[in-house]
Amino acid sequence: MARKFFVGGNFKMNPSTREQKKVLVNTLNSASVDQDVEVVIAPPALYVIPVKETLRGDFKVAAQNCYEKPSGAFTGEISPAQLVDAGIPYVILGHSERRTLFHETSEQVAAKTCAAISAGLSVILCVGETLQEREAEKTKEVVESQLKPVVAALSEADWSKVVIAYEPVWAIGTGKVATSAQAQEAHADIRAYLSTAVSASVAENTRIIYGGSVNAGNCKELGSQKDVDGFLVGGASLKPEFVEIINAKK
Ligand code: PEP
Repeated sequence: MARKFFVGGNFKMNPSTREQKKVLVNTLNSASVDQDVEVVIAPPALYVIPVKETLRGDFKVAAQNCYEKPSGAFTGEISPAQLVDAGIPYVILGHSERRTLFHETSEQVAAKTCAAISAGLSVILCVGETLQEREAEKTKEVVESQLKPVVAALSEADWSKVVIAYEPVWAIGTGKVATSAQAQEAHADIRAYLSTAVSASVAENTRIIYGGSVNAGNCKELGSQKDVDGFLVGGASLKPEFVEIINAKK
């Protein structure tokens, strides 16, 4: 099975107004895009439903986070069941900003991933090392330690609902992009890990996308790498160049 190229737009806590959100959606709606690409837009929680209601039908919508419980006294949280009920198919989990600013552990990310998939969501699962970890040559070890609790929590069949986003922390929002060789090496290592820890077919079929300062200028080179199956895009997803990133393989 060929892995369909995947491009996610992570709006993070942007834009600041509903009017700006409308402009972003209108830009996407009028864009001419490669139909061989799965495009998923992740607006802030407040805008998830209005974006879903106004976005073109060939693009999907994701939440940027969810909690692992189905309902209850968890002020400020959104459950996987609520997202499913709202017709939202994807959720981003384990983003480095959640791990660092909100102290989410890999075990919590695994619990959320398991709950999200059990409820019927697909998951964009983010992993990646800090600059200090890369310089200490610990990239492989760190990424595997982030994946290990997820491997323990999921069944083999669950992996058809997972897209792994390799996002080196030092490249997120910094303008410092990984070289295509660095991205390819990390993606190949993740695929080899999946092969050993889960199965050869999960390794072959799971999409591994790159995130970290992807823009219109670097997307073609990164996207040409054998194990790079797409992108998770932050800053540039708020700009017209996002359309060029979606069309990177054209
Ligand atoms: C992200 O937030 O997932 C991301 C990759 O951000 P940026 O593209 O801005 O580096």
